[in-house]
Amino acid sequence: MIKLSHVDKRYAEHHALVDVSVEFPEHQTTVILGPSGAGKSTLLRSLNLLERPQKGTMQLDDLTIDFSSDLTSKTILTARRKTAMVFQSWNLFPHLTVLQNITEGPRYVLKQPVDQANQRAHALLRQVDLDDTADRYPRQLSGGQQQRISICRALAMNPSYLLFDEPTSALDPELEAQVLRVLQRLAHEQHSMIVVTHNMEFARRVADRLIFVEDGRIEFNGSSDDFFNHPTERIKEFLAAMKF
Ligand code: ADP
Repeated sequence: MIKLSHVDKRYAEHHALVDVSVEFPEHQTTVILGPSGAGKSTLLRSLNLLERPQKGTMQLDDLTIDFSSDLTSKTILTARRKTAMVFQSWNLFPHLTVLQNITEGPRYVLKQPVDQANQRAHALLRQVDLDDTADRYPRQLSGGQQQRISICRALAMNPSYLLFDEPTSALDPELEAQVLRVLQRLAHEQHSMIVVTHNMEFARRVADRLIFVEDGRIEFNGSSDDFFNHPTERIKEFLAAMKF
């Protein structure tokens, strides 16, 4: 479980997270929703220390992090190994093949033997129907394919938590659906996932838990059923604004 307690993050001009306390359970998919600028990405990025809140604590399984004190590089490394982030724009290394992109972390960080890393990469690629791309370079692939490969790369590190920051917002609808189907399968396999998205259908169908963030505060934290079927006035407004 990841547990944030009284987490506060300020940028120079902006109070991005205001006394946030929230838990992300294991083996569940938590979807983070909210208007643009609400603090969703800051919240997600704080979980693997890409952003550093100034106050509060994070319990990440057996690791405790106090944001008000300096973090050692060992702590940062441990936190990063427990979490893997998939970004909005696929960020594969352009000079490496698909296989090399996926095996880079397992080989050089986890010190897996090359055969083992390759075998696992092929197995992951087969799961997203992309094994035939193993020897290609990212530029030879569509955005949706690259994003599915980014997901394989994250999975290859065997993280405890998969973090997704608007993983489909740069994709055409058809490619988006391919990526969302992969996420849905991972959710059914009970990976521990935290997903920032604007895709309401995905949130409704896949989320075990929903968090609604606004002005740096958690305004809703509960089941998907409660969020969509018993919304507060503010959530009703938000849901209406998301419709065409
Ligand atoms: P969301 O993901 O919900 O769109 P963000 O977490 O990206 O929101 O941003 C929350 C607020 O913090 C926004 O007002 C944004 O402009 C501000 N912000 C985000 N990153 C930075 C930064 N690096 N420097 C200054 N302000 C930032």
